[in-house]
Amino acid sequence: MRETLAFDFERTFDQCATLLGDLTFPTVAAWKQEHPGGRVIGYFPVYAPSEIIHAAGMLPVALHGAGDGLELQHADARFGSFICSIVKSTLELAMTERLALMDGLLFSTICDSARNLAFVIKRNQPGMYVDFLHLPHNPNGTASHDFLASEYRRLIGHLQELSGRTISDEALRNSIAVFNENRNLLRRLYEFRRDYPERLRTWELYVLMRAGNFVPVETHNEWLRGVLEELPGRTGKRRDAIRVVIEGSFCEQPPLDLIRVMEEAGCTIADDDFILGRRWFNADVPVAGDPLMNLAESYQDRSVYSSVRHDNRNPRHKQLVEKVRQAKAQAVVFLTAKFCEPACFDYVLFKRELEAAKIPHLPLEFEEKAYTFDRFRMEVETFVESLLFE
Ligand code: SF4
Repeated sequence: MRETLAFDFERTFDQCATLLGDLTFPTVAAWKQEHPGGRVIGYFPVYAPSEIIHAAGMLPVALHGAGDGLELQHADARFGSFICSIVKSTLELAMTERLALMDGLLFSTICDSARNLAFVIKRNQPGMYVDFLHLPHNPNGTASHDFLASEYRRLIGHLQELSGRTISDEALRNSIAVFNENRNLLRRLYEFRRDYPERLRTWELYVLMRAGNFVPVETHNEWLRGVLEELPGRTGKRRDAIRVVIEGSFCEQPPLDLIRVMEEAGCTIADDDFILGRRWFNADVPVAGDPLMNLAESYQDRSVYSSVRHDNRNPRHKQLVEKVRQAKAQAVVFLTAKFCEPACFDYVLFKRELEAAKIPHLPLEFEEKAYTFDRFRMEVETFVESLLFE
């Protein structure tokens, strides 16, 4: 794929989009073929320590549900109606053997639905290694560093058993460095999109970033470097549009066509919280020193805010306003998964803060399985026009 990317830059984004919709995980299957005996760990968003999985010589693969590619036949019988789509479609993937390429699944305490999903899968897939990480909820003091480092140590014990190899501190440091590079490259792409949105559309950035969930991080780094080299030579036309920040899509992802519709309807997306799991540290994780402590401290002190991470030292509704200012955005669009409780609860706080700061916003709710976007288009166009011609 890297050859294709360098050879035909413009086709890269369409190829990445195709990869996202393929529930056979072709790149993961290819990796397993190339690495006989290699293990794959699927992880649920948002704050999963990919570095540790990578240091075990395994392939970390983010699970973002099944989009609109799967009819629910088993999941509806195991979850009630008021559960977000990503939880149900991830269970459906497991129940229909589509996660057979995975040798283990990792979840964490992001919300009650994710917690339940972990244990429903564990019960229904008795042969599968399923683990659940407890993330600290009290950021005051250093006790949570120790606690999270001990959770990571416990995970390492299980991964060593599964892989049959020891995970050394040196391997962890190498993995931290390679993921630091990945996040740096993504940050540069985000900055490029913020400054030149006409040269890099958000849907393009999105598919490029999300495709990285299915390949080794080293390969993804190569793709990102290739794209960054090509982008300055690209041209594009500025259109009448308003600059917006997207908030609320940190876990379940909106349909790709919805992102396209938002851009077509007049939104220039200046910042967003899509695929947060690929860029959940806002600064490099230190490489020298105790790698597990560095990862644990980074979760507490260097990770991006979201509705499923609690930090009373730095309230997220204040951070959203700061994000809007840094992005030089005029408005916020809440793109929230239906039945996502953390996002729905936060909306009340966000709304109050935005109103106080006189920043207009538009709340929209999506499901993975959406086929027509006319209503969304109309709502976004009306919102855009109200700001363009006010
Ligand atoms: S979309 Fe929201 S409710 Fe669903 S698993 Fe993610 S954080 Fe939890």
